[in-house]
This record gives sequence, structure tokens and C-alpha cells, in this order.
Amino acid sequence: MSAHASLRVDGERLWRSLMEMARIGATEKGGCNRQALTDEDREGRDLFVTWCQQLGCEVSVDAIGNIFARRAGRDGSLPPVLAGSHLDTQPTGGKFDGVYGVLAGLEVLRTLQDAGIETEAPFEIAAWTNEEGSRFNPAMIGSGVWAGVMDLDKVYATTDKAGKTMGGELERIGYKGELPAAARPLTAAFEVHIEQGPILEKEGLQIGVLSGIQGLRWYDLVIDGDACHAGPTPMESRRDPFMAAAPIIQGCYDIAAAHAPWGRATFGDIRAEPGSRNTVPERLVVNVDLRHPDAGVLDRMDAEFRELAARECARHGLELRVDELWHMPVTRFAPQCVQAVRAATDMLGYGSMEMVSGAGHDSLYIATVAPTGMIFVPCENGISHNESENAKPEDLEAGCNVLLHAMLAMDPAPAAS
Ligand SMILES: [Zn+2]
Repeated sequence: MSAHASLRVDGERLWRSLMEMARIGATEKGGCNRQALTDEDREGRDLFVTWCQQLGCEVSVDAIGNIFARRAGRDGSLPPVLAGSHLDTQPTGGKFDGVYGVLAGLEVLRTLQDAGIETEAPFEIAAWTNEEGSRFNPAMIGSGVWAGVMDLDKVYATTDKAGKTMGGELERIGYKGELPAAARPLTAAFEVHIEQGPILEKEGLQIGVLSGIQGLRWYDLVIDGDACHAGPTPMESRRDPFMAAAPIIQGCYDIAAAHAPWGRATFGDIRAEPGSRNTVPERLVVNVDLRHPDAGVLDRMDAEFRELAARECARHGLELRVDELWHMPVTRFAPQCVQAVRAATDMLGYGSMEMVSGAGHDSLYIATVAPTGMIFVPCENGISHNESENAKPEDLEAGCNVLLHAMLAMDPAPAAS
């Protein structure tokens, strides 16, 4: 048992900080619109930086605007134990997505400060830039650049809908920092986040111990046939791409069901060309999104999907092309971090289950360069990316206590003198 087993965060202080941050970019329906690198984002960042400085933390900003707040440890040469998430929101976002992970990190440092605890390694909070990807595409840019997965100059040139570049907007709000946007060693990294799904609430549990993040594959299914008149052309003499698309779509739902409960198949968009009501389309482009947390199963789903598409197109005399646009591999979190989260949860006596994240998070990229773990807490009706997003103060407090003790568990033991 750790020396600080009885230590607890101040749940009310955490809640007050969340509510104060939520005033910046507050929407009429009770949500937040604090999109990346807007004036509201600057205001939120400034507030966070002020809080960290009041705590005596050293604050630095890197070239992509990621903010790091460091509370010194006894041994400054040790790589830090880090808690991080994001402060930006969707245009119709909520008060908790991302913000909770950053302010829970702050609450951990405040708790250590109040208790006069000196850790061995430095403890840090990270606020990663543009996680949401709603203003600047893609998502998770700050952590992606930091982890070396994305190119800084390309990201600087990325524009929003108004044609403003990310580099220009970083400069405008004063958050294009001096620190190189590049990974450095971490002892461990943790992210606590609302679940954004219904499982914990349904099970009546307070904590999700995450073992990883679902992998996904994105395809454009391009099916070519022949355009013809919707009236005079008999059904049997048509080469209609929909005749294959219909069984392919149903077949993908069957594939997801065959790999339940974690298999997912989604068709977010279908484009018919030329796209005329009384013409059989000559081409269909179907967006396909397949997901599963087990890499082997996701590979099997991929093979089953390709075979299904080939079979149905051949049966209807149609031409098929499967363009794979993106393959996000399955993320497995570091066993020592998963274990630290599990042990903290058990020690604190919270009801929990092991789960995987269905959504991407900054931790996905952090995990490629450092030992990483994640903690979920329930949110009301599983709703997120919505102004009505809500979470219970006691659940947020529980997740923050788990974060505190998981971070302490990863703090290296003092070197023998
Ligand atoms: Zn988030």
C-alpha cells in the first residue's frame, strides 16, 4: 500500500473549475463552443495557464501550441509523470469532453500541493492542441505532431473554412511556443475522459479501466455500372451499382454482429453519380467505417468485407474498387499503466470494468512514444459532442482520485542513498 493511500482530491474544487472554464464559449443550451485557436480557446488557455502559475508550476508552450505545466519533483532528471487531454471543443460541444482530463490533472497537482507532497519525478499536465478536428482537420493534431506522426509544416498550412491557416492562428492567439513540438521521455502518461458512450452508466459502474483504443479502417467502396433510364430499362438488363451495394451493406452489418459486442460497421455517406432521380447511377461511392479493438478480428472483418464486396459485384456484373483511405491500428495501452489504473480503482473501492475506447483520443498518439493509460467515467445517457453532455460530480471526483493514485503509483521509488 502506498504511503499516500488516504489522499483524496477535492471534488468540489474540480467541479468549480470545470464550471468556471465552461463559462468561456458558453452556449445558450448549456454547452461550449471553444473551437481550437479561436479567441475563446485563447481565453480558456489563459485561464488554465493562470491557474497553473498560481500553483507554482513552470508553464511552457511548444511550436504547435501544446501547453505543459510542470510541478517539480525531487529529481529533476527523471522523465515526468503526465496527465493530459484537450481544452478545445466541438462547435456544439459540452463542458466535460477533454476539459475534464486537463482540469483533473490540475486538481491532482493542487491536491499534492495542499498535502505538501514532493514526488520523485516531476508531475506534468498537458493540454494538447486541436484534439477535436472540427475547425482544423484532422483530429488530434497537437498530440499527433508531438508524437511525430504528423508533419509540423503541413499542419501549419492547414486551413479552416474561412481560409485561415493553423500557423497564423497559433501566432494570432499567442500560443506558437518556443519549445520544439517533439516527444521527450515520459515515465507514464494518463488521460481521464468521459466515456462518450452508454456502457458504464448502464452497468452502474463509476470507472472504466481502459486496455486500449479500437482500431478502425476507412474505405471508399467504388462500384461502377451503367447509367440508364429508370422507366424503359427492364430490371434484369440493368447494371445497377445499388444491386450490389444493398447486400454489401446488409452483409457488413452481419459481419459487425458476428463480432459483437465490439464490432462496428457504419456507412456515413453514399454518393450516386450522376445523381439524378430517374437515372440508374453509373457509379456509387459508399463510405465504409469498420472498427474492432482486437487487431486480429479487425483484420478478419477486413477480409470478410472485401470478399463480400467482390462476390456481390461479380454476381451483378459490376466493377468494384476498394480504396482503403485510413487504417488506424489497434492501440494497446502499456500493461504497467493499465495495472496502475486497476490497482488505484480497487484500492479506492469504485465499481469498475475493463473496456476499450470506441473513439480516438490524444492518448492514441502518446501511446506510440510513452507508456500510456486511460480512465473513463460515465456521462449522462452516453451523450457527447452535444451541448447537453453531462456528468455527475461524484463520478468526476472518482475518476480524478483514480488518476491521482495511478500517477503516484508510477512515480519512481527514491534512489537508494
Ligand atoms: Zn475528448
